[in-house]
Amino acid sequence: MKKQPSSLEQVKITPLRQDILNVLQASKKPLGAYDILGKLKKKRPNAEPPTVYRVLDFLVDAKLVHRIESQNAYVCCSSHTHDSISHQALLLSCQNCKNSFEFEDKNIFASIAKFSKNFGLTIDDALIEMKGLCQNCSRK
Ligand SMILES: [Zn+2]
Ligand SMILES: [Zn+2]
Repeated sequence: MKKQPSSLEQVKITPLRQDILNVLQASKKPLGAYDILGKLKKKRPNAEPPTVYRVLDFLVDAKLVHRIESQNAYVCCSSHTHDSISHQALLLSCQNCKNSFEFEDKNIFASIAKFSKNFGLTIDDALIEMKGLCQNCSRK
């Protein structure tokens, strides 16, 4: 399957979508929708929650943003090499400061794909979260 970079050129980015992306990009930590709304209101005082949810859904579909279900939060996708169809990411996240780091390993997803095939499941979205303490937090 041909791999396509998920780039801004392929997706229509309106000024509002860009503003929300900027909020997420500026944060090292995953942000909940209301955190995003709070930061967005500095620039767009009239922003409303439904607008933010709609844009977030769009950005997740566009594979520019990951939704972390366990935290009910969103993080900017830091990879530009995701498969254009599936969006599979590995996320290391610190339980204490919530900083997170996304990485990819095709081998890990290849073995997951093998098992899911046996189960008859085609994965179209996956975010595997690994929790722990980062260096900074474990030193304290
Ligand atoms: Zn990603
Ligand atoms: Zn930490």
